[in-house]
Amino acid sequence: MHALQPSPAEVRRRTWVYVPYDRLNDACGPLSRLKPSEAGLILLESHCKENVRPYHKKKLVVLLSNQRHFAQEQAARGVAIVYRNAPESYGEQLLAIQHEFALKSIACGSVSERELRKDLESAQHNGLKLQIEPDTAWLSTEDDWTTVFGEPRETGVTQRQYLMERFYRHMRKQSGLLMEAGKFAGGKLSYDDENRKPWRGQVPVPVRPSFAPDEITREVIAGVEHAHPDTFGSSEGFDLPTTAADVQALWQFALAQLLPHFGPYEDAMHSSEPVLFHSAISALMNLGRLLPAQVVQDVQQAYADGRIPLASAEGFIRQILGWREFMRHMHRVTDGYRTVAQSPDPVGNRTANAYSARLVTTIDPAQADKPAMPSALDAHLPLPPVYWGTRSNLFCMDTVVDQVVREGWSHHITRLMVLSNLATLCGFSPRELTDWFWVAYVDAYDWVVEPNVLGMSTFADGGLTATKPYVSGAAYINRMSNYCGKCALDPKKSIGPGSCPFTALYWTFLERNADMLQSNQRMSMPYVGLRRKSATERESLRKRAADAVEQLQRGEIVT
Ligand code: FAD
Repeated sequence: MHALQPSPAEVRRRTWVYVPYDRLNDACGPLSRLKPSEAGLILLESHCKENVRPYHKKKLVVLLSNQRHFAQEQAARGVAIVYRNAPESYGEQLLAIQHEFALKSIACGSVSERELRKDLESAQHNGLKLQIEPDTAWLSTEDDWTTVFGEPRETGVTQRQYLMERFYRHMRKQSGLLMEAGKFAGGKLSYDDENRKPWRGQVPVPVRPSFAPDEITREVIAGVEHAHPDTFGSSEGFDLPTTAADVQALWQFALAQLLPHFGPYEDAMHSSEPVLFHSAISALMNLGRLLPAQVVQDVQQAYADGRIPLASAEGFIRQILGWREFMRHMHRVTDGYRTVAQSPDPVGNRTANAYSARLVTTIDPAQADKPAMPSALDAHLPLPPVYWGTRSNLFCMDTVVDQVVREGWSHHITRLMVLSNLATLCGFSPRELTDWFWVAYVDAYDWVVEPNVLGMSTFADGGLTATKPYVSGAAYINRMSNYCGKCALDPKKSIGPGSCPFTALYWTFLERNADMLQSNQRMSMPYVGLRRKSATERESLRKRAADAVEQLQRGEIVT
């Protein structure tokens, strides 16, 4: 990308707006209220961001290529562009631009990613003048949150649980989405209980559109390969949308072809259909290329026209209006889970193996700001090599990790019930797991990855975000996927060599965490099951689980 330089007259005439890499849209923030001829757009690439962690190559490519295409699209509208690529942080670059162009201030929507916010705040202390305006890319406001849960300072971390359902109920009424004569469409808030079918080929999965890299994307890929040859994942076969038109084409495909079947199969997993009926729009929504307001309105319209059945429309809208918004508020009100009880990993954990060592981030060590390290279940084992692609013999893990290495993406249930499930059952560090997800997924940013891992999937926050740990033995994975049928280990056996370790790990997880979990009403049935087991059976389960954890830690296959 060549640096662009506006003339001094252009600089004076225009209102200068900084658009962060995750708000690449002219329908939100300060850019949306300016005529193209009045607007000057500052877009930045910072080597600090690329170097802070070993991000998946496809994540760097989708971000940088979309931003460069956005610059072109805005220039074509008549917006003046300043585009920089530099080693300095975003805040430092903005400060330099402010001085260079003698700007009184730079307009900017309020920033979602905490890490970027901290970077800009530090530059503000050094003289950067930002005129921060509300971020209009979200569907909910801080007031919506406060209406449901009260002032963060009053309730804050002392509140034992924030229920997503309460927030979603409010948001449905507030937005009017899927509301009919003031009531929830169909008479129910949620159709989740109808949406739990395994996929066995009942409905064919449509072929997804593929977007061949153009010249800009090829240049980005070459740059990433050159600057980060050893980072995680592969850039091979990159085919995600990077132009505004292609982003819309992907979304229209998802709306027409996938969403009608989204609901029933949303929890299903399949080795030869890794995407199933999921939209795979998260990376683009999290870059601001696709606004959630458009997405939910389009789904509402498709439901009204009879193109998407209610259970699927509701299930999909809940993900965005409910979960996505809920998670970003959770991150905000807990200061990225720093206000919950912390339980740091032992010193040296990250250097326990060469794989964990890759997760040491290069955030400025002089900064007092340390990563949040809650671990309510006292889980501190280092993340084992299987997460980096070393074969484990667990077909589910090997299949999903392989997909992540290739694509930087897998769908929700594989993230929750395979990757996180194994980590929570074994007692791997929630912080390391979070950092792994952050590195490995194309859609990961702190406001979304931390609540999903520290909050939802590992219970590291002690139940602030989720009512119970999302854990299961082999039976769930066997019911919802075709993985177990292809696995060398037997999902029906829980003890001894050749048994699937998920089940033994599940029972020992319950045993190990009984003090914390057995009084949880939603866990009462599993604890009844555990109490029925004899001392001998429990001993065998413990041995099976310990053997599996040791083999995983050593990077050996589980036998
Ligand atoms: P679909 O299944 O088609 O759902 C539509 C949209 O709903 C998604 O694009 C997403 O924007 C939103 N959504 C659904 N569930 C969630 C959720 N729990 N939190 C936030 N948004 C949600 N999502 C991310 O965007 N970035 C992450 O880094 C991320 N990390 C996760 C880690 C774990 C352990 C888990 C369990 C979930 C994580 N999620 C994350 C949530 C969810 O898995 C992804 O948003 C989803 O899989 C993206 O694929 P999709 O676009 O096909 O989603």
